[in-house]
Amino acid sequence: MILIHTPSPKEVAAYLQLFRAALPQQVFISLEEMHDPALVEYVVTWGPPVGLFASLGNLKAVFALGAGVDKLLARDDLSPALPIYRLLDGGMAPQMAEYVRFGVLSYQRHMDIYRRQQAAGVWKMLAPRLPGEVQVGVLGLGEIGRAVAQALAADGYAVSGWSRTPRQLDGINCLFGDDGLAELLAGSDVLACVLPSTPETRGLLNAERLASLPAGAMLINAGRGDLLDEEALLAQLDSGHLRCAQLDVFASEPLPADSRLWQHPAVTVTPHIAAITLRSQAVEQIVANLARLRAGEEGQGKVVRERGY
Ligand code: NDP
Repeated sequence: MILIHTPSPKEVAAYLQLFRAALPQQVFISLEEMHDPALVEYVVTWGPPVGLFASLGNLKAVFALGAGVDKLLARDDLSPALPIYRLLDGGMAPQMAEYVRFGVLSYQRHMDIYRRQQAAGVWKMLAPRLPGEVQVGVLGLGEIGRAVAQALAADGYAVSGWSRTPRQLDGINCLFGDDGLAELLAGSDVLACVLPSTPETRGLLNAERLASLPAGAMLINAGRGDLLDEEALLAQLDSGHLRCAQLDVFASEPLPADSRLWQHPAVTVTPHIAAITLRSQAVEQIVANLARLRAGEEGQGKVVRERGY
């Protein structure tokens, strides 16, 4: 038996319909339909209720309906021995590439400055800047970060990327490690973060690293909110060292009403929408993974708990 749960009953209904159509011989249930927790072998979930996993004594694996698993790994009702599989792309990579390209293009074409000029009734042309003159640093070169970096390179930007282990990508200056990060930050007119939240990455974008970006740089954060020191960002924007920021993820979500980020003229706030799981792709991927597990093979997208992603 496979339990499907997300906080939205409408979404659960949509997933149940897709899973049941894809695997008619398999029993899929919602939480409301679960009468005997001992029969549940797999859970497909996003935002499971507290304590759910403790009640499922015969669970074999968890399938996350997203790419980031920081919230799942932080739970204390999930046995460390239980495998977690997350989505690889799941339709999110092209959306994330759009989200970051939008920010980079706005920066290249000075749209943030023109918006502020408009608010002040100022008619002033700025010198145009070509894509090749804008250096973009992408933090994270995984399933999603790779697609972002490659889309930006195809647009003509000068792209560097940063990962934990060495990577090689055509047209991207790939860097890793502490030295690689320092080099990338110093050379990024736009820094785009699509890192996971892990014990190593939390708080990465602190005051010192933000200050090491070139004057007039932009920050895009679509990874996770706890990677960024929001007060340090506000200080850099207030001082004028950083020009603008486009933020999709926040230390606390929804972004609290009293956060200064809401009103800051140099900040664009979006409500964690940079990339949304596409249901059909999620179902296709999880069905294929179930087949692998039942054939005794390893599933794809297995989270390595020790590294946190
Ligand atoms: P992957 O696991 O495929 O890739 C993660 C990347 O981050 C890898 O390149 C990895 O390096 C790198 N990385 C991890 N830890 C470190 C570190 N300590 N130092 C340097 N690099 C590191 O993840 P995805 O690309 O699928 O997703 C990335 C994140 O994007 C998700 O975890 C989630 O937080 C966020 N996200 C946000 C969404 C939104 O709507 N805002 C939607 C979807 C995802 P290496 O290559 O060496 O392993």
